[in-house]
Amino acid sequence: MTPRTKPLISIGLTDPVRRFVGDIDDEDDGHDLPRKRWYHYIPLCWAVFLMLLPHPSLLLLLVSYTWRIQHSHIRFLVHLAVTYTLTFLMFSSLIVILARDPGPVTSPARDEVETEDMSLAEALLAGEADDDMEREKAAGRWCRKCCAPRPERAHHCSACGRCVLKFDHHCVWLGYKCIGHRTHTAFVHFLLCVTLLSIYVVVLAFNTVLYAFANPYAIDETTPLHALFLTFYGAVIALVIGSFFMYHMYLMITNQTTFEHLSPFLLLRYLPPQPAPDGNPLNARPHTLSYEFLSHPQRRLLKDAHGQIRLYDVGWRRNVAQVFGWDRPRGWLVRLICGGGGKGDGRTWPRNPRADELLARLAVGLTDLEKEG
Ligand SMILES: [Zn+2]
Ligand SMILES: [Zn+2]
Repeated sequence: MTPRTKPLISIGLTDPVRRFVGDIDDEDDGHDLPRKRWYHYIPLCWAVFLMLLPHPSLLLLLVSYTWRIQHSHIRFLVHLAVTYTLTFLMFSSLIVILARDPGPVTSPARDEVETEDMSLAEALLAGEADDDMEREKAAGRWCRKCCAPRPERAHHCSACGRCVLKFDHHCVWLGYKCIGHRTHTAFVHFLLCVTLLSIYVVVLAFNTVLYAFANPYAIDETTPLHALFLTFYGAVIALVIGSFFMYHMYLMITNQTTFEHLSPFLLLRYLPPQPAPDGNPLNARPHTLSYEFLSHPQRRLLKDAHGQIRLYDVGWRRNVAQVFGWDRPRGWLVRLICGGGGKGDGRTWPRNPRADELLARLAVGLTDLEKEG
């Protein structure tokens, strides 16, 4: 008997894929991806420029108002520490977003640290890979573009040319890449830090503006202008990024991704199988409804149902824990410093127990409307 050269874990999902598609590079999953062009980085450069733009005015304000006018060295140091700690945290989560793969849909063996060992049952199932492939296709968990299994909540990003685990959205501002399972927490962390920093700067600068109005002769000419600029700039950033952060908080609490929240047609993937005419559950067929071919009333029903069905909502505490929870001893430190990636392997997600009932009702409603039409 020849010694096993590959671990059991590596033959589960990738081998059928590689038999199916010969041109996938074996060395690196990124080799068959569309190439990024230099102009894809212009929004990122612009974003970094906007993040650094207020700092000269901020330093000038701290020196000329807090240090020279208020004569408070402690306040000066506190403001300096708070603003630059938030700036550091903001850049650390940005680096994670830029450097990390958002969610590779490859064999669990090729995932790095977050992978857990395959269970015995899964290892035994690995030999039935072809059956798995057919099953994944039938269940709508197959990406036709990648010719590979698509785990639950993963989605194919056409800009990146690949599937991403727990796909949230493709972000043109932050490196022209996706936000997915392994960068979503860092993304929320980034939005939070930008919002907090903007609010802090607005409060600081607005106080200086008020002081300048009350004591016009006690302050030099340029500091109030910098303070006005910081107040206006910080308020705009706080409003724009703050609303975006609030939206992501809502999504996190209800356990939805941006893509899931904006795409009612995704529910069609999860409709229960149609009952067989003979009543045998083994002969039940998967639904073949496609969004393009739905009638207007069917689409309306789907959109209404989309507002009510939260497939992965398992209570706000558990929802938040999926994004900000940790397993490792010092996981909280990573969450604090850079956000990091979501908890778990990004492939399996607990489902809302109520969702199946609502999906069954939706399936019946859609079928009835089809018969009427
Ligand atoms: Zn794909
Ligand atoms: Zn993308």
